[in-house]
Amino acid sequence: MALIIDGKKISSEIKDELKAKVSMLTRKGTRITLAVVQVGNDPASSVYVGNKKKACEYIGIESQAYELPEETTEEELVSLVEKLNNEESVNGILVQLPLPAHMNEDIIINTISPAKDVDGFHPQSVGALSIGQKGFVSCTPAGVIQLLKRSNISMEGKECVIIGRSNIVGKPMALLMLRENATVTICHSRTKNLKEVAKRADILIVAIGKPYFVTKDYVKEGAIVIDVGIHRNENGKLCGDVDYDDVLGIVSAITPVPGGVGPMTIAMLMSNCVDAAL
Ligand code: NAP
Repeated sequence: MALIIDGKKISSEIKDELKAKVSMLTRKGTRITLAVVQVGNDPASSVYVGNKKKACEYIGIESQAYELPEETTEEELVSLVEKLNNEESVNGILVQLPLPAHMNEDIIINTISPAKDVDGFHPQSVGALSIGQKGFVSCTPAGVIQLLKRSNISMEGKECVIIGRSNIVGKPMALLMLRENATVTICHSRTKNLKEVAKRADILIVAIGKPYFVTKDYVKEGAIVIDVGIHRNENGKLCGDVDYDDVLGIVSAITPVPGGVGPMTIAMLMSNCVDAAL
């Protein structure tokens, strides 16, 4: 029987550990503040921002909300981020993506002080990760590492195949797996013989952005499958990049969608916020 990796339970454990840590810090006089900036009112972004605020409240982190109109200029957003960079009481800055089309996301991300870059998207954070130095790590891949570690799944010496090479998931995922001493292969849309390559994996991490893409033709018997994808299917139900029902019979462990990787992202964001105050 496959182990169903319970991201909801693991993320709750992490949040409870953080809550205890924050309460101790508060007693010692350290307050933690996250500034959350949203431009426009994209409904999905509003849900994510709402969930982040709720998590802050639960853990004892103060959240400051900056809700800016869609027509905000790039210059105005840059000056808000610069102001937050200089505010000593603000420990972390999160600018909810995607930004409206008239803004250059790279410019905004580059403006965030690396010391407050709790999303881990700043080039300095990414560079630090790639050379093994201290810095904030992108929350979703950091969450995958926690899921594996807290399920007692060792990565050392394992063949790990990652499908997807985005800056926020695939690439940092590869660097983190390397840090855990896995042997790492990264696949993308130009990879030849994807099924054969994926089938080599002891640990297969799927971040491709295509619902139900990975079937049992991509999975070795006994492999561990981590599904980062999140979509709504034609019936309005959440599903992942992996055809869960198809692969369940052959995997040794798997993350469900929902309730797998998803809840870990916010837990790791909260963890980054606590680290930002230390
Ligand atoms: P993305 O930026 O769209 O990247 C997708 C990657 O998959 C790209 O590297 C692309 O290759 C590769 N790809 C696309 N089609 C392929 C194919 N047919 N064969 C092989 N590789 C292919 O997506 P992302 O931001 O990394 O997100 C991936 C998924 O994770 C999405 O479903 C997203 O919603 C989800 N997600 C979930 C969370 C969470 O908290 N659970 C967080 C972030 C993302 P190229 O580089 O060659 O184009």
